[in-house]
Amino acid sequence: SFLKRSYQTEDIYEGAGVALRIGELYLKGGNRHIFQKMLVDNVKRSLKEREDVRVVPSKGRIFVVGSSDDDILYRLRWVFGISSVSPVIFCKKDIAEITAHAVSFAKQYPGNEKTVFRISARRSDKHFSHTSSEIGIEVGSAVNVATGYGVNLEDPDLNIGVEVGHTWCFVWTEKLKGSGGLPVGSSGRMALLLSGGIDSPVAGHLLQKRGIALTGVYFHAFPYTPDGSKLKVIDLAKVLAKRQKRFRLYVVQFAQMQEAMQEAATSDYLVLMYRRAMIRIAERLAQKDGIKALATGENLGQVASQTLENMALVEDAAELPIFRPLLTMDKIETMDLAKEIGTYDISILPFEDCCTLFVPEHPQTKGSLKVIKRYEKRRDFEDFIEKAVASVEVIEL
Ligand code: ATP
Ligand code: MG
Repeated sequence: SFLKRSYQTEDIYEGAGVALRIGELYLKGGNRHIFQKMLVDNVKRSLKEREDVRVVPSKGRIFVVGSSDDDILYRLRWVFGISSVSPVIFCKKDIAEITAHAVSFAKQYPGNEKTVFRISARRSDKHFSHTSSEIGIEVGSAVNVATGYGVNLEDPDLNIGVEVGHTWCFVWTEKLKGSGGLPVGSSGRMALLLSGGIDSPVAGHLLQKRGIALTGVYFHAFPYTPDGSKLKVIDLAKVLAKRQKRFRLYVVQFAQMQEAMQEAATSDYLVLMYRRAMIRIAERLAQKDGIKALATGENLGQVASQTLENMALVEDAAELPIFRPLLTMDKIETMDLAKEIGTYDISILPFEDCCTLFVPEHPQTKGSLKVIKRYEKRRDFEDFIEKAVASVEVIEL
């Protein structure tokens, strides 16, 4: 039985590892198991290249067994759904071993005669030889003798954690903040309009953090925008792709549509026309894949195309809801986040975006829907949309 197994020592992990604490996952009640499985899969994927470690799910926890080096901690940093991580030493369920590891952690701590510590012991194996408070007393006195540090339960400089479970036992001192959020995939999927700019990759990151898996849609105006622009978007997509199971990027050829629009509309309306067409095309692609929402990196008031009035005009062309996670963010905040997640250096590489094509210096900030609809009737744009959808390039990352 399971209880009997807990007394055997051979399946107890030993040596360095990491304990992951699971965040809001537990709020999700009935779906908890599905979420936990997604999270475990995401943790495994983030550590795929690290064949020296294994990932072990346990009740309310996930363990990485084998190492706790910086590379592993960095990889875990962007696995959404983890509230905190602790490098740990796994050992046998034996009070002498636990004590030895706690003493060794305490000796590594750069303290002085004023240093105070506490032992935080937890025991989920109620058959263990010592209760939690007995562990605290026994381990605590050994640490005190070995280091001279005093005990302070309320405000310690050094907190030494001990956890004794059924098939595991470990000691830790450091608790690092995890990424938070929900496991990617647990909230569904959106089609993200991904440009080569700074904003849309950050928008994608924030959605992934709330559990959304992404499909990217990029509008490419070859030959007006060079192949380098496309490679840049692929590189950005690869950063987001690292955080989810599979990432599909659609590359839509947009130049013919833009040429036709340039003939049909006055140039101050072109950005609005492009955007409405982008939304319509993205929506077709999304619906083919069963995706029920779109997302953009739009932000209020930065540029002419992103006034509230113009957003409403773009929204008018959509059937699916459009989400804009950056709507209220300052550019500086977005740039800081882009640097943190590793997309900034790619985004600032100099390549043309298709939305500047044929566009004057002062585009409409408050377009009129009547005017747009008149322009849209001048050519058979539906035909262009169908062709763009039919000729889309699919890149699986
Ligand atoms: P970004 O930095 O994401 O390009 P931005 O602040 O430069 O944003 P715009 O260029 O006006 O703003 O684009 C607004 C949004 O429209 C983008 O965030 C993106 O979601 C979408 N978008 C713009 N151009 C393209 C494109 N070529 N392909 C796909 N989506 C695009
Ligand atoms: Mg842009």
